Amino acid sequence: MQVKKLADLDVAGKRVFIRADLNVPQDDAGNIVEDTRIRASLPSIRYCLERGAAVMVTSHLGRPTEGEVRAEDTLAPIAVRLGDLLGKPVRLIRDWVDGGFEVKPGEVVLLENCRCNKGEKKDNEELAKKMAALCDIYVNDAFGTAHRAEATTHGIARFAPVACAGMLMGAEIDALTKATENPARPLVAIVGGAKVSTKLTILKTLADKVDQLIVGGGIANTFLLASGKDIGESLAEPELVKEARAIMDMMKARGAEVPLPVDVVVADEVSALARANRIAVEDVGPQDRILDVGPKSSAKLAEIITHAGTIVWNGPVGVFEHKQFAGGTKMMASAIAHSEAFCIAGGGDTLAAIAKFHIADDIGYISTGGGAFLEFLEGKKLPAIAALEARFVD
Ligand code: ADP
Ligand code: MG
Repeated sequence: MQVKKLADLDVAGKRVFIRADLNVPQDDAGNIVEDTRIRASLPSIRYCLERGAAVMVTSHLGRPTEGEVRAEDTLAPIAVRLGDLLGKPVRLIRDWVDGGFEVKPGEVVLLENCRCNKGEKKDNEELAKKMAALCDIYVNDAFGTAHRAEATTHGIARFAPVACAGMLMGAEIDALTKATENPARPLVAIVGGAKVSTKLTILKTLADKVDQLIVGGGIANTFLLASGKDIGESLAEPELVKEARAIMDMMKARGAEVPLPVDVVVADEVSALARANRIAVEDVGPQDRILDVGPKSSAKLAEIITHAGTIVWNGPVGVFEHKQFAGGTKMMASAIAHSEAFCIAGGGDTLAAIAKFHIADDIGYISTGGGAFLEFLEGKKLPAIAALEARFVD
């Protein structure tokens, strides 16, 4: 995979259009609750500013209706926060698609919510051409939306004079490529979370590549069912037992394995006050819900992780939101933090677990893209990256 990188380009005096992902969570009053994505976008913006480029940044925010900008759609609060972080004011430009605004070299402006423009979601060619005309260099730094072909993530890359990956996008591509093409072995994947159905494609893709496939959470329950265990009232998808069995057979045929829990933590309800019991998998009763892996299983997983060369992690192995059921995910997080392996992690709840157990600094790479991260691992071509690849040579 070859794409132009922002760090290799001379941006001095150029008009640079950066598609960032500044889609941060806000409260009802519009205050920014968490600004990781804005901070993650700073390196590309700073790089351009320091070299005297005229910088335009845009992003989507929330789910607006194209053709209008409602109060909750505006990037105004983002402009303020971005200005604070950069230490200089950031002007917000409203109707920007047809140009008619000035940006000086060394100045950065924010272009209002790109998903408010008619044609954005459908990757409208006319819109993409107009946006491309605003710049000399197009920079895509929004990995989180790379699995969508929209006018600011895909169309514009076809028509801009130069199209490249920003610092964040470049780092994502490098880390994910390192973990998937020629990874240090053993390659261990951890796929946890609630449902097999949402991760079936990735389970199948990984089953073909990894040395060990650790399943956790509700996903492990379906695999336990597939291996003939009683799981009581646990969350599982009986209709996918066949698929789970096929994955285990496929792994076995390659001499690889899907280690299943031997002990579990059960309760009769999912709540903060639930009474948790640690039992052997054989002892799960008809009323029990499996909500975490037990200590023996965690220790086994930790050992696998310790000996891994590369780890791909998506999804918690228990209901880690509640203390009684957090032990397995916590133990795993700590094993990953101490492992020499190169680890990439991604997924909304996975990121929450990483934050909760304070191991962010010990993970090789934390992907900002949930859906895009999974699709990359599934071996799919992400349209936004494909568009950059197509512009590598010219
Ligand atoms: P991610 O967002 O990282 O991809 P998922 O959304 O697939 O992860 O899954 C996370 C959710 O799975 C968490 O809310 C967690 O409580 C839930 N979960 C984990 N283990 C179980 C379990 N044994 N039973 C029910 N839900 C579980
Ligand atoms: Mg999730």
